Amino acid sequence: PPSGHAGRADPPSWYVAGRDHVWLPYAQMKTAAAPLPVVATQGSRLRLAEGRELVDGVASWWTACHGYNHPHIAISVARQLEALPHVMLGGLVHEQAARLAARLAALLPGDLGRVFFSDSGSVAVEVAMKMAVQYWINHGFRGRTKFVAFRGGYHGDTTATMAVCDPDDGMHRLFKGLLPEHVITDLPRDEETTAALDGLLAGRADEIAGILVEPLVQGAGGMLFHDAAVLQRLRVLADRHETLLIFDEVFTGFGRTGAMFACEGAGVVPDIVTLGKALSGGTLPLAATIASEKIFAAFWSDDPMHALMHGPTFMGNALGCAAANASLDLFEREPRLDQVKAIAARLADGLASCRGLPHVVDVRVRGAIGVVELDAIDIPALKARFVEEGVYVRPFGRIVYLTPAFTIGEEDLARLTGAIVRVLSET
Ligand code: PLP
Repeated sequence: PPSGHAGRADPPSWYVAGRDHVWLPYAQMKTAAAPLPVVATQGSRLRLAEGRELVDGVASWWTACHGYNHPHIAISVARQLEALPHVMLGGLVHEQAARLAARLAALLPGDLGRVFFSDSGSVAVEVAMKMAVQYWINHGFRGRTKFVAFRGGYHGDTTATMAVCDPDDGMHRLFKGLLPEHVITDLPRDEETTAALDGLLAGRADEIAGILVEPLVQGAGGMLFHDAAVLQRLRVLADRHETLLIFDEVFTGFGRTGAMFACEGAGVVPDIVTLGKALSGGTLPLAATIASEKIFAAFWSDDPMHALMHGPTFMGNALGCAAANASLDLFEREPRLDQVKAIAARLADGLASCRGLPHVVDVRVRGAIGVVELDAIDIPALKARFVEEGVYVRPFGRIVYLTPAFTIGEEDLARLTGAIVRVLSET
């Protein structure tokens, strides 16, 4: 391959066999650097085929909160694989799904306790959107099919979810003709934007099914932060205009922002919340959409057409649920949220010297998320330099960020922040 091996060793045969066949995400296959062949993972490290280890700053799109290969998850999944790998939830249920749903209900604030499983964050958001639309239909309102979502937001890559992402960020611009139109506006950060949103909701109340937001941190749309007051305003506005409030916690759920859930940290209870990514400790594809009793009550009826019309084949997969139950055990047994607090302090400290570097416009940290925003960025060059530094960091847009495992050691974290400071100092 053109890169990825730095001439250190011949690539493994599987790599050669697959390299003309594996189509990578968000990659110009002609010009992007060849993918790095990973042969093993451990803790916060990726081991490459050539033998080198990279410190992982991304935790596989911020999923691997306990680090890779935590034995408790591995053993739980292995046992489940022998006992019951999968049964559909069509008319059946199994212990892992039942236990997980009850645990999520107990952990989430308010009466968020009706758990609909799926297999990816995008689908969890789509289910939330369908739930909201059908909530209104079941109450006799057919026209409420639009969502209010926010600039800088990201909710997935499927057709429904692309339509509620920031339309200006370019990523989904090509598909505009395919996408239904929603209302994408500014977060109510101040009086002016709050009044604008208030007016918008008043004017279009009979079209709007719900307000959809990533609470506290807008992730893949730009790693943008807002404070709890923004979410409190959204709750007030949703109630005032009798619409639903949906929090997409696919990124923020499970400790990433410092509290177990961002909604809990912000003291705001949405009507529906979505979870994914770290739900299974980053091991298996599992996601969930959790509704409050008010939402569920709209589906509780003698009319079969009032049932929620959704059902992914692998929803509530027993291996995924076993991994998620094991992951929740770890949150109970190990000091994850304290680790997040310590990481936040180290990220703030380690990235501080990026301030003042040429091209750096902002450095921000929230929980185990460290962000350096630049005014210009040469992504391919940066990616290559990070690998030379022995770290895996994957900039996007004008953002260099770290979302490490919560179990990352002090030295590895220092390697990540040190590499960012060094590499950005050169540019
Ligand atoms: N919602 C948020 C907030 C996300 O960050 C993501 C993924 O980055 C998604 C939804 C989509 O999740 P998935 O990639 O599992 O479909």
